[in-house]
Amino acid sequence: MLASSQTHPYATATQDRFAQALARDFANLNLFERLAAARREIPGRIVFTTSFGIEDQAIAHAVFTQDLDIDVVTFDTGRLFAETHDVWAQTERRYRRTIRALLPERGALEDWIACNGIDGFRRSIELRQACCELRKVEPLGRALAQASGWITGLRANQSTGRSATPAASVDPGRGLVKVNPLFDWTRASVAEFVHTHDIPYNALHDRGFLSIGCAPCTRAVAPGEPERAGRWWWEQDAKKECGLHGRHR
Ligand code: SF4
Repeated sequence: MLASSQTHPYATATQDRFAQALARDFANLNLFERLAAARREIPGRIVFTTSFGIEDQAIAHAVFTQDLDIDVVTFDTGRLFAETHDVWAQTERRYRRTIRALLPERGALEDWIACNGIDGFRRSIELRQACCELRKVEPLGRALAQASGWITGLRANQSTGRSATPAASVDPGRGLVKVNPLFDWTRASVAEFVHTHDIPYNALHDRGFLSIGCAPCTRAVAPGEPERAGRWWWEQDAKKECGLHGRHR
């Protein structure tokens, strides 16, 4: 895995121009138009990574209904909620598409569990990050191999750590253009979009789960709590990130 200070050989000035053009154009575009523009502006393979959260469901709707040439990929960590698998299946039925799942590398995961235990991630931040690395970050690297664009559901007002999320930027570590078409949306506007278009969403959202990841590491939040407070709640002082975005933004 490349460290954030390294620049991927494919990160180019051309990509920077794509990112700047998208960021400039996004102000006047709706979600459908933003995704179509990303597809039009970025040559080569584009990957959308979904965890089936409400933001990702909005993006999936705009991708599938426009039949955009964007690969939709998810990470089946082995620890997902049954409700997440349910909305995954509902999404495939609704749009008549299958969604590619990447799983952790079997041998590495077997070794980690044998060494640390099935819930070893609770013992330290380092072990938690190592589990996320095995189950999410390494598969992400495979998902984005040879890709020139990456679509995410990040919003700037999800957390203070995400407050600088741009419309689009070059990810120098991965050598691609990272596009965040919901960067300036609120949770309420995403929910309204999902309601308006009758998009399937994870049933856990109706039970106080705002940000949904792996089952043992996610809980519902109380009214007024930060959106990501339910993730790794036992790590009071840590960033609420799994490493998919934090190291390469
Ligand atoms: Fe492991 Fe929890 Fe990270 Fe999932 S969220 S990969 S179970 S530490």
